[in-house]
This record gives sequence, C-alpha cells and structure tokens, in this order.
Amino acid sequence: MQKAIYPGSFDPLHNGHLDVIGRAARLCDSVVVAIAANASKNALLSTAERIDIIKNATAHLPEVSVTEFEGLLVDFVIEQKADCIIRGLRAISDFEYEFQMALMNRQLRSTVETIFLMPSQEYIYLSSRIIKEIAATGNDVRDFISEKAAVAVEKKLALKKI
Ligand code: ADP
Repeated sequence: MQKAIYPGSFDPLHNGHLDVIGRAARLCDSVVVAIAANASKNALLSTAERIDIIKNATAHLPEVSVTEFEGLLVDFVIEQKADCIIRGLRAISDFEYEFQMALMNRQLRSTVETIFLMPSQEYIYLSSRIIKEIAATGNDVRDFISEKAAVAVEKKLALKKI
C-alpha cells in the first residue's frame, strides 16, 4: 500500500488519532492527515492551529504530512493519487456511520478503498468533543492531547468566555 489519506476534523488531535496515524504510517509509504474544511465552521481551533498541532505531534514520523481539503473526500483522494482512506473505529457506535460513508465513497469512486484501524484499548473512549467538554470545565486534558494542543484549546475556551 502506498499513499493513504486520513481525513477528519481533528479539533483537536488527540492520542487516539495519533495511535491510528502511527499504525497507518507503519502500513503505508505515506499518510496525509487531511482536515476537512466543510467541518471547520463549528470548530474550536482554526485550521492553521490544527495543522500546527498535528505537524508537531507527528514530527517523528517522516511518512506523515498534513493538509486541508475542500469538497468531496473521494475527489481529494483521486487528486492526491492516493490508494486508500484510513478511518479509526472506536466502538460499535462508530460502525454504522463509517460503514455508510465507506460504501458511499466506494459507490462514488469504485477504486478508493477504506481501511479501518482500531486504536489501542486505552484510547477507545477518546473523542475531541469529550476532551473539549472536559477542558471547558477547567479540568486538565494533558493525559489525552499534547501540551501544544492543550494550550491552544485552553486559550480558545478562555476567549469564548469573555
Ligand atoms: P470526524 O470529524 O470525522 O468525526 P474526527 O476528527 O473526530 O472525525 O476523527 C477522525 C477519524 O479518527 C475518524 O475516523 C474517527 O473515527 C477516528 N477517531 C476519532 N477518535 C478516535 C479514537 N479515540 N480512536 C480511534 N480512532 C478515532
């Protein structure tokens, strides 16, 4: 397998995402972490902040690059000449949505495969939404996200309170 696209909001990147990126980097020659611009309207962090956080957290993985994409994921995959889409699967609750997306993407572009990777058990319960909720109550989230991400999230949440 050569080139994979790992799409998502990554608002912010957390250790579950990082676990999936590490697994994908071991499987593929290159992995493009792709921030979906469509999902950016309601994001806490700007795209530039999210790119910076992901670049910092994956600096030790030369196979990994980060970018933003607009429009349909399958079009971006074709444009990038990538071979597959990587998605992380946490629990049964992810399955229905992910299954629907994967089959729809295959319907749109039959050559694009979706590969599902499971994170290490300790990250199964992590989601960006829950991390933001915990941070919003003033609790420390550094067990789940990088120092850089925690600082950015705390700064944005503080600004929202003003
Ligand atoms: P989205 O905005 O598409 O919900 P996210 O940015 O939250 O996506 O996550 C991007 C991808 O990472 C998705 O495939 C999602 O299932 C996966 N993912 C999110 N959290 C985890 C986790 N704790 N462990 C493994 N995969 C995860």
